[in-house]
Amino acid sequence: MKTAQIIVPVYNEEEGLRRFHEVVGGIADGLQDYAVSFIFVNDGSSDGSMSVIRALAKEDPRVKYISFSRNFGKEAAIYAGLEHSSADMVILIDADLQHPPELIPQMLSYVGSGEYDACGAKRYPGFMSRMFTSINNRMSTVKLQTGATDYMCMNRKFVNAVLSLCENQRFSKGLFAWVGYRVKWVDYVQGPRTTGKSKWNFRKLLSYAIDGITGFSVIPLRMVSFAGAVICTLAVIYIIITLIKTLVKGVDVPGYATILVILLFMGGIILLSIGILGSYIGRIFMESKDRPVYLTDETNIEKDPEQGSGSGHKT
Ligand code: UDP
Ligand code: MG
Repeated sequence: MKTAQIIVPVYNEEEGLRRFHEVVGGIADGLQDYAVSFIFVNDGSSDGSMSVIRALAKEDPRVKYISFSRNFGKEAAIYAGLEHSSADMVILIDADLQHPPELIPQMLSYVGSGEYDACGAKRYPGFMSRMFTSINNRMSTVKLQTGATDYMCMNRKFVNAVLSLCENQRFSKGLFAWVGYRVKWVDYVQGPRTTGKSKWNFRKLLSYAIDGITGFSVIPLRMVSFAGAVICTLAVIYIIITLIKTLVKGVDVPGYATILVILLFMGGIILLSIGILGSYIGRIFMESKDRPVYLTDETNIEKDPEQGSGSGHKT
């Protein structure tokens, strides 16, 4: 029988976890072709999530877990889950039941048939999400699917491909798109959270979007050069005009407004360009430290020593 593992990032989800386990466990029981297990990745929850996970692991031998030493973020949790997975099929799903688990059998059958290497769920995108995808797709060669989520089912080949991308600053949606292969997208309608609350706010979303773009594309850097070239050309034209005017009409003193406008405009462009350069330098700085993506505090998964250090560090 083939095996499937359900990877669940968990950050402060104590109220919903039992229900999640019950619902998804029920669906897993209905899968005849697969032996299913769970990997809960506790991303440094500050509530009782870890006690719930430990209790679940006692009651249900299918429950495996990894617990981080602190909150490293969902991307790190996804990476840890994939790294610790060993099954033929892996399913990534949120703990808040906003990703309808009824889709699991369908997703598994698309990938299990061998026709696809991964199957992702996409939903009708909100305004922000559409904006981000369209900006991203214009700026990057890695095209994202509009409304795509990281609710995905993937085969071993796909998982290994994703794991082979060993950058520290991970943007999973981009990584999943980058590896290519045959991906099937299924639509779903996302319900509201039933318990707990979303960990996103505008600031986090904005920095996520910037990370997404700077992590996959150098087009913003080219845009800076392009802006420089355009401004230089305009400046040369203006210099010629001014020179001719001065030679023909003599020196004319007023020009305060022109100078001020040019000065402010140039200042703005320069600062913006430095900011763009800075984001890339920041990425280089963070990557060059080569820190592990996460640190494990506790786990009940025995790791094959040949499969890396288990601390999320590149080997
Ligand atoms: N999550 C996580 N670490 C974090 C934030 C969130 O592991 O720092 C988990 C969270 O427990 C949930 C999933 O990631 O299982 C999605 O989080 P959330 O529901 O807050 O995001 P949204 O559905 O609003 O995109
Ligand atoms: Mg959610």
